Amino acid sequence: MKSYQLYIAGRWEDPASGEWFETSNPFDGKPWARIPRCNAADVERAVAAAAAAFEDGAWAQSLPAARGRLLMKAADGLEARARDLGELETRDTGKRIAETVPQIRYVAEWFRYYGGIADKIEGRVTAIDRADTLNYTLREPLGVLAAVTPWNSPIMIAVWKIAPALAAGNTVVVKPSEHASASTLALMEVFDEAGFPPGVVNVVTGMPEEAGAPLVSHPQVAKVSFTGSDVGGGKINRAAADSFKHVTMELGGKSPQIVFEDADLDSAVNGVISGIFQSNGQSCVAGSRLLLQSAIAEDFTARLIEAVRGLRFGDPMDPQTQIGPIANRMQFEKVLGFIERAKAAGARCLCGGSPGAAKDIGAGMFVEPTIFDAVSDDMEIWRDEVFGPVLAITRFDSEEEAVRAANDSPYGLAAGVWTTDIRRGHRMAKLLKSGTVYVNTYRHVSIASPVGGYKKSGFGRENGLEVMAAYTQTKSVWVGLDRITANPLTL
Ligand code: NAD
Repeated sequence: MKSYQLYIAGRWEDPASGEWFETSNPFDGKPWARIPRCNAADVERAVAAAAAAFEDGAWAQSLPAARGRLLMKAADGLEARARDLGELETRDTGKRIAETVPQIRYVAEWFRYYGGIADKIEGRVTAIDRADTLNYTLREPLGVLAAVTPWNSPIMIAVWKIAPALAAGNTVVVKPSEHASASTLALMEVFDEAGFPPGVVNVVTGMPEEAGAPLVSHPQVAKVSFTGSDVGGGKINRAAADSFKHVTMELGGKSPQIVFEDADLDSAVNGVISGIFQSNGQSCVAGSRLLLQSAIAEDFTARLIEAVRGLRFGDPMDPQTQIGPIANRMQFEKVLGFIERAKAAGARCLCGGSPGAAKDIGAGMFVEPTIFDAVSDDMEIWRDEVFGPVLAITRFDSEEEAVRAANDSPYGLAAGVWTTDIRRGHRMAKLLKSGTVYVNTYRHVSIASPVGGYKKSGFGRENGLEVMAAYTQTKSVWVGLDRITANPLTL
């Protein structure tokens, strides 16, 4: 079994507790690695290292262009390791190799994009309303970032935070999920090899209360960027408030996909499948609520069931596998619990609804792609995030009805619209209350486009140019131009 170490101040270290916990492969159920169980003492060392690197030393004095060059080197390093890191993430999370390797290869582009921005972060000379003064602004980094990440796509979500934070001159302590820490620890080799100064990026691992809580409340942490559940996010937001930290919250969703009768139905079926069954629905933008216009509802549902029935379960390391296991036992049981309660509440199970049964399903943590019909808007399965391969269907007649039903949710992360009417597509994009709207497509992410939530799906944005504002603060500088500064109390 592999034993991991922490990465603090550029060194690989054992945890202060002298304790490790096991992480298992969700496909075969076997523990395969030991992860350091950190406590407040490790957090203290990691934050001190990040604060020291921010305050003085090579990072504090680095020129923006030099930071950019290091980020470019990190991009090359990540690209070169994409295969290894993808396999690691598949072993730890059960996410299919067909998804992890291309995803991590693409994530290298985040380092290139923000590496290119590092030397373009500029203040401005203000058009000040007085002649005796010059006023200009500086854009300065915040300090130490605590990046707290979930178990789905650990490397991608960590890099979304680390790359812009470093470009702006901040330093980072990452706390990955206790369910999937290995790939984030392995990612540190990329920074090590690229030659980042010690302390610029650090990782602590472990339990939310033991490692996460001391990090997000640490007085020397300037900002917390959190991706995870709204329950975790609420606690972290409260903990960060006491020391007035900057906070970004990327939380869950219950995203609607709306299919109008004029849609290209083949494309819409594929888009709905991609939204809810790719990654087993363990995706923040999972399109878990399907709204079908009545005229096409029956036909569309039949096509969807047909497409889903043929999907192949299997080892996520096999590129031919279409459905892998659920990422961990806790989540597996949670998903099955949602399914049982939906049945008990009277929703009609059209397909799936059970643990997966096939020849090659290892330890058996598979859930059949599940579709519920006859769902009412007060049912748990319609309102709460399952974070699994479970789709709930309802029907509508008018566009207004669709908008009302789609927006009637505490969440607002993403929404999908399928229509061939261009006016309707843009109209819906304006009316839907979510941070992302997809029209005739679903699930894309790009470095260049902001991601984030409305309502209970969080606040702040990641990606694109906009995020740089969240990793910098503005200083206003006043310079007197008069030869003499007058005494204001002289009559
Ligand atoms: P989670 O909230 O249980 O945990 C996320 C991270 O926070 C973990 O590292 C955990 O250890 C830490 N944590 C939890 N409570 C904490 C506390 N009180 N103090 C400090 N740290 C704490 O979430 P999860 O189950 O790992 O992830 C799944 C959730 O993430 C889903 O709701 C999903 O929708 C969401 N998600 C959102 C996005 C997005 O971009 N909006 C992306 C991916 C996942």
